[in-house]
Amino acid sequence: MENHSDILIVGAGILGLSHAYAAARRGLKVRVFERSATPLGASVRNFGQALVTGQPPGQMLELAKASREIWGRWAQLAGLPLKRNGSYLFARTEAEEHLLEAFCEGRAVEHGYRVELLRGTALRNLYGGRFSHHRAALHGLDDQQLYSREAIPALIDYLRRDLGVAFHFSTLVRDVEPGRVRSTAGSFTGEQIIVCSGHDYQTLLADSIAALKPQICRLQMLRARPQANLDLQHALLTGLSCVHYGAFADLPQAQAVRAQILRETPHLHEQGIHLLISPTPHGELIIGDSHHYGSDPSPFNAEQVDDWMIELAEQTLGCKVQVVERWQGVYGAQGPAPFSFLQAAPGVHAALMHTGVGMSVGPAMAERNLGTLLGEH
Ligand SMILES: Cc1cc2nc3c(=O)[nH]c(=O)nc-3n(C[C@H](O)[C@H](O)[C@H](O)COP(=O)(O)OP(=O)(O)OC[C@H]3O[C@@H](n4cnc5c(N)ncnc54)[C@H](O)[C@@H]3O)c2cc1C
Repeated sequence: MENHSDILIVGAGILGLSHAYAAARRGLKVRVFERSATPLGASVRNFGQALVTGQPPGQMLELAKASREIWGRWAQLAGLPLKRNGSYLFARTEAEEHLLEAFCEGRAVEHGYRVELLRGTALRNLYGGRFSHHRAALHGLDDQQLYSREAIPALIDYLRRDLGVAFHFSTLVRDVEPGRVRSTAGSFTGEQIIVCSGHDYQTLLADSIAALKPQICRLQMLRARPQANLDLQHALLTGLSCVHYGAFADLPQAQAVRAQILRETPHLHEQGIHLLISPTPHGELIIGDSHHYGSDPSPFNAEQVDDWMIELAEQTLGCKVQVVERWQGVYGAQGPAPFSFLQAAPGVHAALMHTGVGMSVGPAMAERNLGTLLGEH
């Protein structure tokens, strides 16, 4: 019975780790399998923005708020770096400013988004006036910033050390069936199996996952050194993100923002570029991103796309940046809902994201899934 667990989890990305935490904190015996020696999927390639402000009202907003609390707890327990100062979303144009005004006056009040709109002196006082070439800044007070490539390993250490979760790295799970996982490290039994395999739709539960018709999204990403002393402590976004994020995208004022992007910078729309900038704990910036959807990620990064993102970042920051690293990220996209928790067989489930906000909602989503599995509600 040594190899028997209550919960077997495939994948040590944020979804796998969130489910492991939700199960282990309930006192269950948990085992996690990860095919690489350390997680290398979407969960370490991202911006590490745990955003509440961008989520559409309803379940995503509620999950993001609940996830915020969990990240706060993890930061303390696991000692992972977490900035809790919020985000700034800059309006560059009149249309973007009108959209932020409408959001603050309407939806934010109605649904309890904690935001403030900075203009005039407040905007000029921000970072010594560095961002005063914008028309306004939406301060999302509940937004958080992680450094994922350090946070994910810190979370693994905590789960192993304090909650007794067993990890098997460099271990591919080849097959799952009710009560059993077959892996390159042998066969393991468990009461429940949760597959959190990210955008790998072919190795496990392929038929059940195919029925969801999921796609992938590939993104070009950069890490850069600002050529000025920024000491940035907030996640940054611009009005470009408003046409992508559900908190804003369906407001009537978003139409003018969309029309202006199509008219003046159609290449940004074609490449799915919207600027996000995340400070790392080491004074550098993660800059992105572009969005290309399909069934498989093309390996070929376009230099022009990086150039456009760098140009946008330098405009926003008001300084040059020096690129030190480039990579591609891929996440699960375009399923039937923002995420799925599907039962493929008795005691065999898959937890998948279909939109690029797993860091923002994953921790609370896992709590909900565990509650469902254990019949808590
Ligand atoms: C570039 C980029 C930027 C993003 N920015 C943000 C952001 O700022 N904020 C936000 O909220 N979200 C962001 N996201 C989205 C977020 O990162 C994802 O939604 C989330 O990481 C998905 O987590 P996951 O655990 O499902 O997948 P992954 O992190 O990909 O983990 C899946 C893991 O399963 C393992 N695996 C798969 N199959 C097997 C198998 N058969 N056996 C063993 N192991 C297996 C893989 O090796 C992998 O480690 C971004 C994503 C990308 C790519």
